[in-house]
Amino acid sequence: MQEHPEKPIKSGMVTLVGPPNVGKSTLLNSLLGQKISIVSPKPQTTRNRILGIINGDDYQIVMLDTPGIHDAEKPLNLEMVKIALSTLTEADVILFMIDVTLPLPKPETASVRHLKDAGRPAMLLINKIDLVAREALLPIIAAYQKMYPFTAIIPVSARLGDGTERIIGEIHRLLPEGPRLYPEDIPTDATERFIVAEIIREKIFLKTGEEVPYATAVVVDSFKEDPARMQVVIHATIFVEKQSQKGIVIGKNGRKLKEIGTAAREDMESLLGLKVVLKLWVKVQKDWTRDRRFLREFGFGGIS
Ligand code: GDP
Ligand code: MG
Repeated sequence: MQEHPEKPIKSGMVTLVGPPNVGKSTLLNSLLGQKISIVSPKPQTTRNRILGIINGDDYQIVMLDTPGIHDAEKPLNLEMVKIALSTLTEADVILFMIDVTLPLPKPETASVRHLKDAGRPAMLLINKIDLVAREALLPIIAAYQKMYPFTAIIPVSARLGDGTERIIGEIHRLLPEGPRLYPEDIPTDATERFIVAEIIREKIFLKTGEEVPYATAVVVDSFKEDPARMQVVIHATIFVEKQSQKGIVIGKNGRKLKEIGTAAREDMESLLGLKVVLKLWVKVQKDWTRDRRFLREFGFGGIS
């Protein structure tokens, strides 16, 4: 029976790029209606590419959240920028996000040069408009219009969800016709294990200062579901670069680690819909952010 022929489906890859800390991960979570990409007030929270799948009646948007594009020196940061750039040429549409509260860049920034090189349709998202008066947008729009022929310039507040309908509409307009690439009922291709490790990393970003978040990697050692008790038992190791950082993460009488664990467990329980028993260890892996072998083991450098 084909009384109601289906509308043609549009689908494709959309890459979210821009400087660190402008709100890329917040936007992806807002579009998905759930948190899969971790967020913090500190730059360079996102290290890998995170894929979110947004489904509508007649579209599927496969959106890649990337680490920010920034000047990199350390091997870890170089890998992060490489991951962000490698996603540009694969994209059907690029979303280039900026933060309205930051000063305007020079006309030819590295990021805009990367857009030109990729040669894909790109729209500009001016985020955090909840923090400024409307008039502040005009000079920014004018400056960016001169830099690159954006297909659209959209003021948004990722935090409040303002402008998200227009973003979806514009993406829909630009996407090619094609079948869904992923099942309709999964929000991401990331494993629960990966997201769990990311949640722990987010709490370290939120609860420790200075260099500690940047010196931290998290590995989930085991993830065991116990359906009879409706619970999951998760063991994870937090790697830091130095003994002093280990002390900071553990805190006086283990208080900091307990705080990190409690906050992480609460997020995991709402993600998984199960009770979570979380055990955390802290280990020193000397200078791991400069150690290419260790980075490969952690999944950096596998993408080029
Ligand atoms: P990313 O590094 O580009 O992924 O940025 P994040 O999504 O991690 O966000 C960086 C910081 O900006 C976090 O503290 C967010 O809560 C905040 N943020 C993101 N979007 C908005 C927004 O629309 N308005 C405001 N006021 N803050 C935002
Ligand atoms: Mg991010």
